[in-house]
Amino acid sequence: MFEELISFCKNRGFVYQSCSLYGGLQGFYDYGPLGVELKNKIKQSWWNEMVKRRSNVFGIDSNIILSDKVLSSSGHLDGFEDVFKDCRNCKSRFRIDEVKDVCLNPKCGSRDFTPEKAFNLMMKVNVGPTEGNYAYLRPETAQGIFINFKNVMDSFSPKLPFGIAQIGKAFRNEVTPKNFILKTREFEQMEMEFFIKPGDNDYYFEQLKEQRKQWWNKQGVEVVFYEQGKDELAHYSKKTTDIMCDFEGTLQELEGIADRQDFDLGSHTKAQSEFDIKAKVKPNTTSIDKLSHFQEKLIPHNIEVSAGVERAFLAILYSAYKKDGDRTVLKLPAHLAPFKAAIVPIVKNKEDIVSCAQGVFDKLQDAGILDVKFELTGNVGKSYAKHDEIGTLYCISVDHESVKDGTLTIRDRDTREQSKISIDKLIELLR
Ligand code: ATP
Repeated sequence: MFEELISFCKNRGFVYQSCSLYGGLQGFYDYGPLGVELKNKIKQSWWNEMVKRRSNVFGIDSNIILSDKVLSSSGHLDGFEDVFKDCRNCKSRFRIDEVKDVCLNPKCGSRDFTPEKAFNLMMKVNVGPTEGNYAYLRPETAQGIFINFKNVMDSFSPKLPFGIAQIGKAFRNEVTPKNFILKTREFEQMEMEFFIKPGDNDYYFEQLKEQRKQWWNKQGVEVVFYEQGKDELAHYSKKTTDIMCDFEGTLQELEGIADRQDFDLGSHTKAQSEFDIKAKVKPNTTSIDKLSHFQEKLIPHNIEVSAGVERAFLAILYSAYKKDGDRTVLKLPAHLAPFKAAIVPIVKNKEDIVSCAQGVFDKLQDAGILDVKFELTGNVGKSYAKHDEIGTLYCISVDHESVKDGTLTIRDRDTREQSKISIDKLIELLR
């Protein structure tokens, strides 16, 4: 089923291998006409839930390229590493947490490995015309949030607790990109950092965990929690729960919820000794501002929720992709369907029917219903099958009767039931 879904993504215009014209670039993917619609809708659903519906959460959009000073203070320059070793026989590369004594390549099985080597996952870029002036593509969107904490406080003076959120690209030079779009070198994150008074950590951690689970359920994805062991925690985290989804018997992480304590603001602040910082932070001699909260005069702690857009994309498709007798149907929740409706003239060579259908299409557009496709195949059955497969909620067929009295036939994606409907009722329904 996973393999079938990968071909489906390519054939139906959701996801393409990047640079495939030149043999492909490993760990990078492009999104096609339907993929970009689904991706945008996932991001919009997250933004609505995490920013628009919360009066104490502020959205931002910070730079992708970060100075080495930011990433030195955040711990990424020293600690954001994977350790790997190569099989000397077949040259396959493995992260050491993936492989024990025997090469995992089923055709190899050698026990002869190179010594282990640490590898920083960040991608370096040269900024400006002077060679050697390095910065980095951000490995997480979170750092852009922490370095804008003071800006948001200066502009809005929010009381604790409050959050700052953003959606954007992140880059990790993964040693072994794998599982299609689940582990790539360029991806997008949807992150919210929730700043709280020290001591409120467990309360907000649990609250956010539940809220995030409900969001996943609304996207049609069943999830379970996995609490990381002490030896699995990232350098910034005191406690992390991953939200996992079952892909063919294997649990994969979709989102991490982490109690980062005061590690981040504590790491980026100047005058660290003036505050009672709980986390273990590196001395900071380069920051030029204090990151304490104005009224509270303390460094807030923060709970992070961090989900991957591509993992959400695949989990949503995987959960929605169904076989129903002889048809394939993508049972996406209504707010995620790339098209709400397809307008299908029953023939393509009768001018009155085609122009009546065009009129229906135009009226929907004028009413602000834009996720509609004009489907001029002249074959109603084929159009239904095609739109079931890409998740379109309704097919609206236009025939002689429609030309005469304006009635349309609406067919439901999930039940396949058909009934008559007027254009006004259709507009109401799609709204
Ligand atoms: P994993 O170990 O499962 O690759 P992680 O624990 O390193 O991920 P985090 O640093 O917690 O991931 O990042 C938060 C989220 O960002 C993840 O839950 C995931 O959805 C997404 N993410 C992280 N790395 C990648 C990647 N290489 N490709 C796609 N999405 C990713």
